[in-house]
Amino acid sequence: MLSFLSGVQKISAQPATENLVIVTLDGMRWQEVFGGADSALLKNKKFTRNSAGTISKFWNDTIEIRRKKLFPFLWSTVANKGQLYGNRWKGNEVNNANRYKFSYPGYNEIFTGYPDTAVNSNDKNLNKNINVLEFINHQAGFTNSVAVFTTWDVFPYILNKWRSGIYVNSDTDSLPFSTEQSRLLDNMQSLTARPLGVRPDIFTYVAAREYMKEKKPKVLYIGFDETDDLAHGGMYDLYLGSALAEDKMIEDLWNYLQSVPQYKNKTTLIITCDHGRGDDPKENWQHHGEKIEDAGQIWIAALGPHTKPMGEMKNKNILYQKQLAATFAKIFGLTFTANHPVADPVESIYE
Ligand SMILES: [Zn+2]
Repeated sequence: MLSFLSGVQKISAQPATENLVIVTLDGMRWQEVFGGADSALLKNKKFTRNSAGTISKFWNDTIEIRRKKLFPFLWSTVANKGQLYGNRWKGNEVNNANRYKFSYPGYNEIFTGYPDTAVNSNDKNLNKNINVLEFINHQAGFTNSVAVFTTWDVFPYILNKWRSGIYVNSDTDSLPFSTEQSRLLDNMQSLTARPLGVRPDIFTYVAAREYMKEKKPKVLYIGFDETDDLAHGGMYDLYLGSALAEDKMIEDLWNYLQSVPQYKNKTTLIITCDHGRGDDPKENWQHHGEKIEDAGQIWIAALGPHTKPMGEMKNKNILYQKQLAATFAKIFGLTFTANHPVADPVESIYE
C-alpha cells in the first residue's frame, strides 16, 4: 500500500541472510589456496609419488590458473561474488590467536571467539567455553535449527553437544531419520574401510546434504578432515586431491542452496581452516603445532547476500581466527556473548 502511495518507495529491501553454512578444511594451507600446487612439493618424489600425473592435473605456470585448478569454486564463484582473506603475498593476513596451532584449540577459537590457553589438547575433553552455535541455537526462531556434520570424532566434545543441545553428527553416527538415501549412506559408512581412522569426508558431506534436504536447518557446519591427515602422512598428491574434492562438495552444496527458496540468496557461506602448516623449510608442510612458526597462518572465504563482492583481499590487513565466532552471530544481526571474552567480528564480511 505504501509503495503504491509513495513514488520513492523501493520495491523490495536488500535480501536478508537467514541461513549460515560454515565449512572447514582441516589444516589446509593458505599457500595452496592462493598459490595452487607448490612446484617444490610436486617435484619431490618423497611427497608426490605420481609426479607426472599430479603435475598434469594441478600445474600451470600462471598462478591464477593454477589455484583455480585446485579450488575451482573458490576462484570462480567466491572470487567473483564474495571475499577471500589471507593472501600474505599481498600483505593480507589471517592468523590463529591461539599459540598451539593444532585442531582442538583452533576449532575452539573459531566457535567460541576465545583463544583459551587452557584449551591445549586434542583429547576428548568437554569444552567449558560457550560456542556461538549454541548461542544461536538458544535465540528465538533458531531452536533445533543448528546442525553439525564432521569427520573428526572429537567435535561432539569441542562443541559440547551434551550441554549445547546442538545436533552433532560425527564419524560413523547414523542419520536421525529414515529415507532410502539415509539407509544407503548409513550402510556405506558402516562398511567402509575408514582408511584414515574416521569416515571419509564424502560421507560427512553427503550426510550433511541429505540432512539439509530433510530438516532444513538455518545453520549448518561441515568439518572436513582429510587434508590434515594426508599432509601428516606426507602424501602431497592425495592432499591436493582431497582439497579439490572438498571444493567440489562445497560447490555442490552451494548449487543445492541456490535451488531451494528457503536458502536461495538468503544464505551466507564461510569457509576456513583450523590452522596452517609449515612452509620453511619446505618439508615442514607436513607439520603444524606450537613449534612450527608458519602454522598459525590461515585464510577465510566468505560469500552471501550481505558480503560485498570484493574478491581476493589485497589490502594490508590482519585478521584473527577468534573474530569468526562474533561474525557468525552478526550475520543474523546478533551479538554473541558468552561465559568468556569474545573477540570483535569482521565487519567487512557482513556490512
Ligand atoms: Zn594435524
